[in-house]
Amino acid sequence: MKSSNLGYPRIGEKREWKKSLEQFWAGKIEKEQFLSQMEEFRLQHLQKQIDNGIDLIPVGDFSFYDHVLDTAVMFGIVPKRFDYNSGKVSLETYFEIARGTKDAVAAEMTKWFNTNYHYIVPELKEVVPTLVENRPLQFFKEAKQKLGIEGKPVILGPITFVKLSKGYSSLKEVVQQFIPLYAEILMELQAEGVEWVQIDEPILATSLSEEEVNLFADVYQILHKAAPNVKLLLQTYFDSINHYEEIISLPVQGIGLDFVHDRGENLASLKKFGFPKDKVLAAGVIDGRNIWRTNLEERLWLLNEITELVSKDRMIVQPSSSLLHVPVTVKSEETLEEVLKDALSFADEKLSEVVILTKGFRDGKELIDEEIAASTKAIQALNESTFRNNQQVQNTIQNLASVRAEREAAFYFRQRAQEERFHLPLLPTTTIGSFPQTQEVRKQRLLWRKGELTDAEYEEYINLEIKKWIEIQEKLNLDVLVHGEFERTDMVEYFGEKLAGFQFTKFGWVQSYGSRCVKPPLIYGDVSFQGPMTVKETLYAQSLTLKPVKGMLTGPITILNWSFVRDDISRYEVANQIALALRKEVELLEENGIHMIQVDEPALREGLPLKRENWESYLNAAVYAFKLATASVQNKTQIHTHMCYANFEDIIEAINALDADVISIETSRSHGELLYAFEKNTYDKGIGLGVYDIHSPRVPNLEELTRNIERALQVLDPKLFWINPDCGLKTRGLEETVAALEVMVEAAELVREKL
Ligand code: GLN
Ligand code: ZN
Repeated sequence: MKSSNLGYPRIGEKREWKKSLEQFWAGKIEKEQFLSQMEEFRLQHLQKQIDNGIDLIPVGDFSFYDHVLDTAVMFGIVPKRFDYNSGKVSLETYFEIARGTKDAVAAEMTKWFNTNYHYIVPELKEVVPTLVENRPLQFFKEAKQKLGIEGKPVILGPITFVKLSKGYSSLKEVVQQFIPLYAEILMELQAEGVEWVQIDEPILATSLSEEEVNLFADVYQILHKAAPNVKLLLQTYFDSINHYEEIISLPVQGIGLDFVHDRGENLASLKKFGFPKDKVLAAGVIDGRNIWRTNLEERLWLLNEITELVSKDRMIVQPSSSLLHVPVTVKSEETLEEVLKDALSFADEKLSEVVILTKGFRDGKELIDEEIAASTKAIQALNESTFRNNQQVQNTIQNLASVRAEREAAFYFRQRAQEERFHLPLLPTTTIGSFPQTQEVRKQRLLWRKGELTDAEYEEYINLEIKKWIEIQEKLNLDVLVHGEFERTDMVEYFGEKLAGFQFTKFGWVQSYGSRCVKPPLIYGDVSFQGPMTVKETLYAQSLTLKPVKGMLTGPITILNWSFVRDDISRYEVANQIALALRKEVELLEENGIHMIQVDEPALREGLPLKRENWESYLNAAVYAFKLATASVQNKTQIHTHMCYANFEDIIEAINALDADVISIETSRSHGELLYAFEKNTYDKGIGLGVYDIHSPRVPNLEELTRNIERALQVLDPKLFWINPDCGLKTRGLEETVAALEVMVEAAELVREKL
């Protein structure tokens, strides 16, 4: 029996990796220096795993940007718009694909399954894949030469790789092109004497068709024949596998299953169908996606349950997925509450948990009694702490049935009341919330955080910004104004800092895409309202204008999906706690005369479960939490929501069920598709179409905006139609923002006249 790991974070304890990359991109360090720094990080990360005592250490998971892009360039897959002929893809071209050049747009990037990591989408159109370098072999050799270890090369499997790519029509045909290349990689690894190869096929944790499942049998048959002496470990993660019987009979030597995020389904399959005697089971029993300390006793118990079906000598103990999705080490956190810090486990701590668990499981529980006791104690202490025992919150949660989560009247009646309250023109114009967060805004906040600016001075500065932008909006003649969100760094962090139940780490970064890292808040206790969060700024803005100012909150599901969430209660319960706290804020705004309130849910869609069959329960819970936060207002109060995408055709029922009076969505980049969605489905409430793309500094022209609006009005009721940019403007500069909004207002007026 062995301990293993699936992948290790690239970014380093203090984000050294990010800094090195960005210095290289900025021309501040030479290529040689960059490459040697990267090698140093890569070896350090391996050394840590060696020191921890991990038996099977992954090699080749390290990357300069993204492992899907690594796989693509290994096959010479470079989109035609970049400079490339043949042979090994240069470092320069590699970064060009990821980041674009002044003449060629970067390759698209999208979410890696249901995580917050984004990969570069390979473009298979018009390219013939060839093996231009054997990366796994290269990294295997490096680890052997430099550190004297026999690593476990990690490769992204062919079917997942092609499924994540674009620009092809027949999956089967394209996969067939790749089989000989994968076979070549494996044969070379075999020649080098490699024992285990981890081949990642996380696509197996999604819903697959019959045909796709059959493809696995064909592909792995060939790969096995090509390199029969290499032990292939077919690795799945993030959910259970639906086609358990077919998958366990594939001609591979090991199967990796996730026993953390499978809702007990993998274990159930194991019990129902057994496990082949000639294979190894790599059991992912330590959460690779969340940051909580492992309950060793409970996990040992699970491992023992598995040994009723698989003998110990055929088992591997490992995290449920790569540790890419958690921060590096708890050690750096010096300011956290002790009871919380004790109950945390980041990548390094998870590695030692894997090793401890392996030892206890292999050589006897008594050997790890001490560690078990310590883990139980830490988890218990947090569970019993006041942070997780807010009686008031828990009582309300238990009596949710008595909390009204439906608006007083149906939309039709509310619409009348709101018309009377606001007297807006047809096609009202507004924005999504934030205005440019300039260098100066960020500088002032930093000074304030360092204590160099008093609260009063900082507040005065924020008020000046609000005032400036209210004047600009007045001058632009927008119909519904916003205060501009200058007091917020981040739309989740801002609320997390004001609500009880959240904590922020100092170095708890995880890679989001390329060198960009995010530091998700920790929701560790019962969430509750502690005092007004947005009232002051909103009322100040409203005091400066007669036009309505729209209040601006982040919704419960977005806060949930962009945080590390406690796992002792269900995620939905946490969402409801957040919703109840936001409900208080909504009510406070309303009491103070703010009758338009936007509750943003940009992360609603990305929280969808991997498998279609689990969507409904997620969407029901999301809709409920949103309504819990918003439904207590009067008819005349208009609830808005915002989402940064238009592809909600498949979730339109849920969007409708949110019962928001107005939704604003992104559409400027996907106009045609949107209209198609509306022709087929009926969305019968207010809708604001993003009429221009805020992701670029380009100022749109009058003609294109007018055209966008008129096209939408062919299918949408002008009485329900709003005009706004795609998303918040915080990343834009002042001048381009004003110029673009000017054109937007002018376009609205032009179209209005013709109605
Ligand atoms: N109100 C937020 C803003 O304007 C919305 C951001 C988002 O949708 N991601 O910045
Ligand atoms: Zn948005």
